[in-house]
Amino acid sequence: MTTVHETISRRVLIGPGSLAAVPSEVDRLGGARVLLLSTRSASRAAGTVGDALGGRVALSFDQPVAHTPVSVTHGLLAELGPRGIDVIVAIGGGSAVGLSKAVAARTDVPQLVVPTTYAGSEQTPVLGETENGEKTTRRDLALVPGTVVYDPELTVSMPAGLTLTSALNAVAHAVEALWAQDATPVSDALATEAADLILGTLPHVLSDPVDVAPRARLQSGAWLAGLCLSQTQMGLHHQLAHTLGGMFDLPHAELHSLLLAHLMRFNLPYASRAAERLTRILGDDPAAVVEGLAHSHDGAVTLRELGVPRHGLELTAGRVVASPYPNPRPVEHDSLRVLLQTAWG
Ligand code: NAD
Repeated sequence: MTTVHETISRRVLIGPGSLAAVPSEVDRLGGARVLLLSTRSASRAAGTVGDALGGRVALSFDQPVAHTPVSVTHGLLAELGPRGIDVIVAIGGGSAVGLSKAVAARTDVPQLVVPTTYAGSEQTPVLGETENGEKTTRRDLALVPGTVVYDPELTVSMPAGLTLTSALNAVAHAVEALWAQDATPVSDALATEAADLILGTLPHVLSDPVDVAPRARLQSGAWLAGLCLSQTQMGLHHQLAHTLGGMFDLPHAELHSLLLAHLMRFNLPYASRAAERLTRILGDDPAAVVEGLAHSHDGAVTLRELGVPRHGLELTAGRVVASPYPNPRPVEHDSLRVLLQTAWG
């Protein structure tokens, strides 16, 4: 079998204080009419960038919505009208990055994104959008932001719950890359280092959330995990997260976080390479370590607590089995129902 590895070549700036480089990066892109997107949590950073860009900001928008509703994108484009833009700057979590991709998809304008969580969307050519309760996904290399600025100082404001669940969301990209059928030596290396960095650093970040040095290591791991997401085909874990998240409008990071240990127990006996690498990093029972972390916050740790109705389990199992993503363990209705029931609690 021939393995194909494609590298998406782009520009990444990383390090404490790198937010200050955004205006010169906008210059580099020739930006004269900038759309400045941010989540409310990033309002101070957006204010700093907006002040530095001055009259070049054509429009500021601070209300991106999770799962990128098409109505929000269309409303924003209508507000921009014929004035147009030539660069998008997005500061925030995956919701801000998603909106940036959605605008770029309709305008062909270059993107500069400044992620403030560990979700990883900034590294992928994927855009998920919702319209009339339906989620559609498109994949196009043109959607990958051309410039990414990682500033760990913007992550110290993450509450403990978001830090934990968003970090485990990133670990899920790495774990699925390790058992992906299209894994390569490059994706294996990225995934192993990502899992090691994130899981090794997370306890330090949780015990001292404002210390920038461990935050920086965690963010580096999330960058690598985002690359895993773009370079390999995700399996049952991401399929369950997409299906449940889309059907019941669930919070993204919490859902990934609570599912991960269940999926590791389900798949690792069928994925020796992933099991061997994760055992090296986490010891004899990697799923137990991840479960211990996933349970160590005040938020929902079961699908029931997250708001999934019991009848949703059967519905989800049916949809997944009808067209499963590639997965190391064959996905059968009965075993999947047991997995979902256990995750439901
Ligand atoms: P998010 O962007 O919705 O943010 C979650 C919450 O955290 C928001 O209230 C936000 O304001 C707050 N927040 C963000 N950064 C913060 C910070 N530094 N400090 C304090 N609060 C902060 O959530 P997310 O998990 O980053 O992203 C989820 C979205 O991204 C979903 O829509 C998901 O579908 C999408 N996503 C897409 C891809 C892809 O490849 N297309 C990959 C991952 C996620």
